[in-house]
Amino acid sequence: MEEEKKNLPPVQGGNGQNGNGNGGGRRRRRKKRKGGGGVAQGENTQNAQNKQNQNQSAQKQEQRAKQSQPQQKQKNHGKDKQKQNQNQSQEDNRKDTYAYVLDGNLYINLTNKCSNGCDFCVRNERTSYYGNYLWLRHGDPTPEKVIAQVNGFGDLKRFKEAVFCGFGEPTYRVAEMVALCDYFHEKGLATRLNTNGQGNLINKRDIVPELKGKLDLVNVSLNAASSEKYKKICRSQYGESGFEAMIEFAKLCKRNGVNCRFSIVDCIGEEEVEACKRLAESVKVPLYIRKYIADS
Ligand code: SF4
Repeated sequence: MEEEKKNLPPVQGGNGQNGNGNGGGRRRRRKKRKGGGGVAQGENTQNAQNKQNQNQSAQKQEQRAKQSQPQQKQKNHGKDKQKQNQNQSQEDNRKDTYAYVLDGNLYINLTNKCSNGCDFCVRNERTSYYGNYLWLRHGDPTPEKVIAQVNGFGDLKRFKEAVFCGFGEPTYRVAEMVALCDYFHEKGLATRLNTNGQGNLINKRDIVPELKGKLDLVNVSLNAASSEKYKKICRSQYGESGFEAMIEFAKLCKRNGVNCRFSIVDCIGEEEVEACKRLAESVKVPLYIRKYIADS
């Protein structure tokens, strides 16, 4: 009975509560309902089974999707890696640029080493400079390698100057630079060095006498009028000595008869420009103020 009660739908309990006392009717209804309940239960069971099957199949699909996701991800990752490798190998296979032409001058890129980490350095954000890839992937070049590339430009007489300037500080390669100066002079070109003026600290000796008669102009980037400011924007690895060494280098050039000038870019602010002018005058080294070129 308890069992039956359990199988009865809730309406049956309602009948009992009505107090009809019709046990047969109750039994008939119970039977009918039991039978009906059976059919309904069968349908329910079938429905439940269907639902279970559907759930199982959905679960299986989900599982399959989950299993295939990492495989897809792996495939995509593989493709990305392949593309990266291709780009890398294209980069590695690209010939290093030791010489490039700009504004009628021949520029020589001897190294990527530098004792400064200037805020405004073009190499901070660029892989190329006016289309020239100046990061050296195969090491610093020998003078012979530079000459081989330079000769690819044809008659060198069409250039105004050979300028040592690239994605690094040329005085790291002072011997190579001096050798190349002789070559360019032979070819009738004037020579210029663009430097951060820390060559004596870099080489741990006074290199100025080595430059005499080799460089027609030494252009020292002044950038700031005080060591505090210079340290802030140029971040020399030598700290404040970097600024002092740079001023001393310019003075030594002047003393040794090496044509030298300071240079600044006009975007540093009027006050700083004026302060730089005063500093240059005080050490009797001319100051060249050049326009800031944003697009390169
Ligand atoms: S000194 Fe020249 S190469 Fe070196 S970080 Fe400054 S701007 Fe760049």
